[in-house]
Amino acid sequence: MNHSDSERIAGFLELHKFRPAKNINEAELIIFNTCGVRQSAEDRVYGQIHNLKSKNKNLKLKIILTGCLANRKDVQKRLRDKIDLFFPISDFKKFENWIIKNYLEIKNLKLKIASQKRKTLRKTDIDYLSINSRRNNAYRALVPIMTGCDNFCSYCVVPSARGRETSRPAKEIIAKVKNLTKKGVKEIILLGQNVNSYHFWISNSKSRISGEDSKRKFYNFSKLLKEINKIPGNFRIHFVSNHPKDVTDELIETAAKLSKVCECFHLPLQAGNNDVLRRMNRKYSRKQYFLLIQKIKVAYKKHKADKLFSITSDIIVGFPGETRRQFMDSAEVMKKAKYDMVYFGQFSPRPGTAAWQMKDDVSKSEKAWREKYLNEILKKTASKNNRKYVGRIEDVLVEKQKNSLARLAKNEYFGKTRTMKNVKFASDKKKLIGKIVRVKIIKAGAWNLEGAISK
Ligand code: SF4
Repeated sequence: MNHSDSERIAGFLELHKFRPAKNINEAELIIFNTCGVRQSAEDRVYGQIHNLKSKNKNLKLKIILTGCLANRKDVQKRLRDKIDLFFPISDFKKFENWIIKNYLEIKNLKLKIASQKRKTLRKTDIDYLSINSRRNNAYRALVPIMTGCDNFCSYCVVPSARGRETSRPAKEIIAKVKNLTKKGVKEIILLGQNVNSYHFWISNSKSRISGEDSKRKFYNFSKLLKEINKIPGNFRIHFVSNHPKDVTDELIETAAKLSKVCECFHLPLQAGNNDVLRRMNRKYSRKQYFLLIQKIKVAYKKHKADKLFSITSDIIVGFPGETRRQFMDSAEVMKKAKYDMVYFGQFSPRPGTAAWQMKDDVSKSEKAWREKYLNEILKKTASKNNRKYVGRIEDVLVEKQKNSLARLAKNEYFGKTRTMKNVKFASDKKKLIGKIVRVKIIKAGAWNLEGAISK
């Protein structure tokens, strides 16, 4: 989401005649789009700002800070003499006003927001999501469909950093995807802190005047997926992130059935022990989580029997009070779920969250050990899953090319399957980047596949 926000900030600046500096010493404006999800990310921001201020002698240089840390009073106090503006990303207006005030040559600047009137269920301002992005990637696009979160998981900064959950107008999202795919984008990643709780009403103006509520159209996430799937063109759809408590049977059926929706599902577990899940305020049990995995796997098998499916997750180790025995429940879920990928996080107390008040009583070394332990399980399940690819022909979206293999007069390419597996292959063809090609898989490791382009 931060990556996507950075693309919008860049798009906004470029629209108003700002240009990327050739190197950091030439820059007049530097924007830190910060992540506060872990202490290590926060420390990196302090280090980089300190270095910048001590080494950069450009007197014109101005520094802006946005993202997760922008709203935090302690951060503002700590950095107040180094930062020219703090703005939470949802308050894009504050940024715009500051730019007008500080760069007078563009005082007629106006936010180019979509002209249609928006009607969200809440009053949060999400106009900034409609700002055109400056994308570095011509074939993959991040499309936010909602922002903020109402779930208040006890360890998470998102509800305080981004505010309450707000959905973007369905028509605007659909128009955006149409536009991107017309321009040749091959992969659409629908983004949101919890895409499953997407909800939007479209009122037709006549019905509002006459009060005929029945003419209002309701979009939930499944309906939105169906509409996006109808858009013509050869492109794929991914979506992140899901919350297990909001993954409905309707969504599972829809995702499994739609041809453009890829065969992978990200289902954050966070912990495998019910007591830890309760203290994390996750609102599901380990049993309910297993049931969901089962349903998802059955649905994909039923509708896409000829395709392989991947399941990924997020797990936090060392949450306050998590005993070794409780941690072993996470290990057990991992073995049973047979994940393809898991993003691990060692618990780190975040100011403003409920867990900030809890005693961070699992030592650093224990957290590191637990992560390593789970990573070993992941290596085994991912390797086993990947071996199923050998001999198959998969659609691979080509992402980059490395030095050509002069010896073989071939180019070495890297791309991803529909299940987000990394694939390396050699080909004598040129200009494959951004194309979807058929690759026969001949070798599989835990994290990568290797293949040859299929004739
Ligand atoms: Fe944070 Fe996700 Fe929980 Fe929302 S659902 S509070 S974004 S972890």
